[in-house]
Amino acid sequence: MTISLQLNAASGEPSTRRTLSDISLGVARSKKIVLVTGAGISCSCGIPDFRSSDGLYALVKERYPDVVLKGRDLFDASLFRDPASTSVFYTFISQLKRSIDAATPAPTHRFIQTLDAKHKLLRSYTQNIDGLEERVGLCGSSSQQAKTTGKRKAKLKVKEVRNVQLHGDIHRVRCTFCSAEMPCTEEHLLAFENGKPPNCPECTSRSEARVARSARALKIGTLRPAIVLYDEPHPLGDDIGTIQTSDIARKPDMLIIMGTSLKVHGLKKLVKDFAKVVHATGTGTTPNGAPKVQKNWQGKVVFVNKTPPGSEWSDVIDYHVAGETDEWVEKVLEDWKKLRPSDWEVQQTLDKTGETSGFKVVKDATAKTKGKAASKRNPDVENVPPEDPFISQPVSPSKKPISSAPSSPSKRRQSASHYSDVESSPRKRRDIARIANDMEKLDMSDMRLLFTDATNAIKNTGGGDDLVMGKLDLSKPKVRKARTPAVSKEDNPESRSAAKSRRGVWVEIVQKA
Ligand SMILES: [Zn+2]
Repeated sequence: MTISLQLNAASGEPSTRRTLSDISLGVARSKKIVLVTGAGISCSCGIPDFRSSDGLYALVKERYPDVVLKGRDLFDASLFRDPASTSVFYTFISQLKRSIDAATPAPTHRFIQTLDAKHKLLRSYTQNIDGLEERVGLCGSSSQQAKTTGKRKAKLKVKEVRNVQLHGDIHRVRCTFCSAEMPCTEEHLLAFENGKPPNCPECTSRSEARVARSARALKIGTLRPAIVLYDEPHPLGDDIGTIQTSDIARKPDMLIIMGTSLKVHGLKKLVKDFAKVVHATGTGTTPNGAPKVQKNWQGKVVFVNKTPPGSEWSDVIDYHVAGETDEWVEKVLEDWKKLRPSDWEVQQTLDKTGETSGFKVVKDATAKTKGKAASKRNPDVENVPPEDPFISQPVSPSKKPISSAPSSPSKRRQSASHYSDVESSPRKRRDIARIANDMEKLDMSDMRLLFTDATNAIKNTGGGDDLVMGKLDLSKPKVRKARTPAVSKEDNPESRSAAKSRRGVWVEIVQKA
């Protein structure tokens, strides 16, 4: 049964106030929190509601008075069938990106970053395409930093990704032909604004290289925003599925859902899968066979949203906090600092030591460590190579182009497919069985639905084929690989002691100074 709590009534009713504090304590005590967020967390950032009929649509309507396109159609893959609606889409996205560029992250975004910094965040999953998590320092699944580099097709580095962007990223563009991906520049934006997509620099350079050696020119693809539309597979779908599977296997101890109406079918599935493992936190049996007693703050599913969840969620969601997410996170932080001040003391102690003795050295050491930690996750800090793969990987005419791009459209279709690993070997298939078992019989069949709207769910629930292929996906070796680093240092006692010894280093430096 979902308990509903009015956030703004917190100062009034004692029982509501108590329960809200209990939830805050739950956040403070949990160690592997999964976050699922939607548009509601970016409402206070100055991004206009792009689903409503005014605001961003005004300019689009002015430019294309004859084209009638509903809000939902602007995010449906079918729009590419018609040149007019394609132009409207490009112009609209350019306006949306400009308003997102002018927006600032909300307290809720910073809260997610704080959870990560305090080693409490297992993973954040968002439906938002605004990339505001990245701006507060959470590495997103779309970022270059999260991907492997080299000749082979880029894959996601499970450990690096702190924020999984379920619907892609408006700040990046992708070639419709060769799937090359790069940041969206001002030049791209101007082209989109005029309803025309820019040419793909990778395709262009490949073609030019051929022409230079008197071979036939190649087809040149165009760039489109790297967001995932309704009825489209996610280009990183395989890798995102791997991340989810690994997160579920790590048994998250709290699930917080913020600012989403939970209407998208795939998201519902994701939330229900996580809720199941979260609810089992602290249960089971002790080594001598006695049943464990779940502590009252353990294994909670919290839903923070202005509107209540539907009845289908009564067994999934434990608490519905009715109110603004920004207000709730402020309250949690306030309670957390009050209830567990020790969690916030480490940095203060260090700062204090820095003031009294060995000021310069300590400061340097802190800055160094900070820089190190930040460089792992914050792309702004790291000395990243030029993001444009076109620049960083010049195509040599004598060699096969260094690119993730396959050479022919037929090949491209195969590898761009969600389920390209159909021809799996028997050994691989044995591995799947084993992994599936490891995953506690996790039903992966609906994974692809994550990126599909509820209204399209029926045709996509698909036949047995999808199911089998979805499972075959697990057969990729990366699954096994991913599970090892997935035991991230946050929760690994060994690395916690490593962190302690780092603190020891600081002390030493202070003494020397
Ligand atoms: Zn291309």
